[in-house]
Amino acid sequence: MSGQQVNTGKRRILSGVQPSGEAHLGNYLGAFRQWVDLQDTYDCLFCIVDQHAITGQYDPALLPQRIFDMAVSLLAVGLDPDRCSIFVQSEVQEHTELAWLFNAVTPVGELERMTQYKDKSSRLESIPAGLLNYPILQAADILIYRAQAVPVGEDQLQHLELTREIARKWNAQYGELFPEPQAIVGGTGRIMGLDGEAKMSKSLGNTVGILAEPEEVWSQVRTAVTDPQRIRKDDPGRPEVCNVYSLHEFFTDSSDLPDIAEQCRTAQRGCVDCKKILAENVAHEFEPFRDRAAHYRDRPEEVMEVLATGARQATVLAQETMAEVRRKMGMDWRKALT
Ligand code: ADP
Repeated sequence: MSGQQVNTGKRRILSGVQPSGEAHLGNYLGAFRQWVDLQDTYDCLFCIVDQHAITGQYDPALLPQRIFDMAVSLLAVGLDPDRCSIFVQSEVQEHTELAWLFNAVTPVGELERMTQYKDKSSRLESIPAGLLNYPILQAADILIYRAQAVPVGEDQLQHLELTREIARKWNAQYGELFPEPQAIVGGTGRIMGLDGEAKMSKSLGNTVGILAEPEEVWSQVRTAVTDPQRIRKDDPGRPEVCNVYSLHEFFTDSSDLPDIAEQCRTAQRGCVDCKKILAENVAHEFEPFRDRAAHYRDRPEEVMEVLATGARQATVLAQETMAEVRRKMGMDWRKALT
């Protein structure tokens, strides 16, 4: 492991993923595929955000395996530890320290305005403060590395805007330190789950795993909801409203797509057969990922080492920032008095 990717003078980016175990199609199409490409042009830090995960319901007994499985997924899709840092958020303790300090410059009104907060809190009787303060920790995740850019999905743009505001407010109060990170919005947009109703998400159980074996991909894809107007096999379908068709657009050769659409419109092919083709194409595309995942699952110590190296690299950068932050906020008082 060269570990040469930090301090190369390239622009720096940070992005994070929840430790939700094996990644799903939404993670891959909406984020990871882009992360793999960004490794060549940026200094990249990728963080498994276990401290964010605790703001929702979770089982502590399952968290270690979910962290590990997410790390395997990141390596399986092609993040290369020689070209980026991959680490677990709680192993770089400066994130939470900076988050606490950012509490001092973050207006509660702004936090309460966040769509994700309003959404999630509306379903709860008792709202943990962590759910409200989540975007502060996210701002710290980004700004501790003084990242200039962040690849984000559209649903995270509001949080990134708040990060920029926190950077501005902190700089105005304590002196120029943090850049205002730009969004890199290059993903596919939101991938709908197999229910066709909500965003694909582990917590909704509507996912296709990227490391699933072909039979498992099929057992997931066969449950996918198609055009609701197509009740009987010979009803004509509408590919433009069918989530299975929208997934074909990512996984099926573009020269085959007109045929898939036409066979649906004319009811020449039933939904089950259409899903079978999709499942085969998904499983085929992810074959190299399954191979890489098998390599890492057989060598857990390699994964641990990747995450340890990533945490060491990230810590160096985080400590540099925190030294400046403490100085500017008047907390390096011993030095100041001598
Ligand atoms: P979530 O955004 O659901 O909390 P994560 O934080 O684990 O999930 O997601 C990691 C990355 O994957 C984020 O950049 C997020 O935008 C992307 N992602 C997750 N689910 C989807 C989806 N259904 N469609 C598109 N992108 C997604």
